[in-house]
Amino acid sequence: MTQEAATPEIRIHRHSTGPGGALVNAYLVETSEGIVAVDGTLTVSDGRALRARVESLGKPLVAMLVTHAHPDHYGGVVEVVGPDDVPVIATAGVDAVIRRDDALKEEILRPMFGEEWPRERTFPSRTVADGETLELGGARFSVLDLGPGESPHDSIWSLGDERRTVFLGDQVYDRKHAYLADGFHEEWLANLERLKRELPADATLQIGHGGPVTPARFDEQREYVETFVDAVRSADWSQPTTAKAAVVERMTRLLPTDELQFLMELSIEPMAARLGLGNVRPG
Ligand SMILES: [Zn+2]
Repeated sequence: MTQEAATPEIRIHRHSTGPGGALVNAYLVETSEGIVAVDGTLTVSDGRALRARVESLGKPLVAMLVTHAHPDHYGGVVEVVGPDDVPVIATAGVDAVIRRDDALKEEILRPMFGEEWPRERTFPSRTVADGETLELGGARFSVLDLGPGESPHDSIWSLGDERRTVFLGDQVYDRKHAYLADGFHEEWLANLERLKRELPADATLQIGHGGPVTPARFDEQREYVETFVDAVRSADWSQPTTAKAAVVERMTRLLPTDELQFLMELSIEPMAARLGLGNVRPG
């Protein structure tokens, strides 16, 4: 857990999981009155670690916010909330996609994570509209509903009225490989342009993997997405194995790290199918 002061009265605690938990972050925003959790990590262990941190801070959990519809952000919510009767808040679109895709995520994640993928998942219990501001634990949180992008439905949450501290979900990956299997890369690129335009240049972006970063990273993320699409498009799909290797080679040249490389690899065939290349079936 790391922490930093957003204002004198508000501290942000970040919980970063190891590679076994997809290197994902969740946040506890500690106000004078309580704690607002932002995202819940993927696993039982990480959800419990967050819950233990809530308890050690000695203030009540007042709400849980969910940025987007991917399981590494909502799976552990059940453990973070524990026995508390607190609202789990998301936009209607994020809520709908979590409910729609949860059974499929169970099929995919149970074999990968076993008992670390929670047996029961907690879904949002309260939905909010684009632009809504909520007063939680004495702090103000505003949501921007982005729609499809990195996931089938994304949102970001700002703390305070000036958008200087923003919980950005996975709009930017901080020089780790990215997941592009959901088929909304054009929308993601548009969201990156919009965020670059609308957020203050000196904003602190609390992101889903790595960080914090500043809006200077939006252009890097755009380049990553564009390079991935181009790499898939220009590969020779008459030889799917070679095509896949060519994409991996190009992406690891652009970003020489293996952090979250598996997410990028999982995205190659779905992207090829999306682009109508070869006889590749969606993954
Ligand atoms: Zn994520």
